[in-house]
Amino acid sequence: MIKPIVTNIKELKLPNFAWEFLPSENIIELLDDLDFTLSNNGKGVGLAAPQIGIHFKVAIVRSLVGNIYLINPKIIEKNNKKVCVEGCLSLPGIQLAVDRWNYIKFENYTKEGKLEIKEADGVFAEIIQHELDHCNGILITDRKHSRR
Ligand SMILES: [Zn+2]
Repeated sequence: MIKPIVTNIKELKLPNFAWEFLPSENIIELLDDLDFTLSNNGKGVGLAAPQIGIHFKVAIVRSLVGNIYLINPKIIEKNNKKVCVEGCLSLPGIQLAVDRWNYIKFENYTKEGKLEIKEADGVFAEIIQHELDHCNGILITDRKHSRR
């Protein structure tokens, strides 16, 4: 289902729960909602559950090889700082220079509930950090680059 995108900053900064793989919980439905809602918002390359009002650490990212699902993602290694200009579907009309890492290694769960370790660099790493931040209630306004 296509869901409305949350633009209320207070709501976006609420704490989010780790997804628990219980038999009663349907991760597929949430991932589909994220997928449809993202497709409905042409410019976006990623979307996190808190942006559709679901307070779990779950997000999707578009890639050349299909959707990447982020479930309880956590950065375990990072390298080479850089500054990126980013926008956000939840902050329409705003573009900001933000601090990012060019390389990250992160823990993540597959939609089947299996723990995996993944790596990313370049623009792909940037998008993953943006969505991972949403999972932790962090917005680009909190990562604003300040010149020395
Ligand atoms: Zn965003």
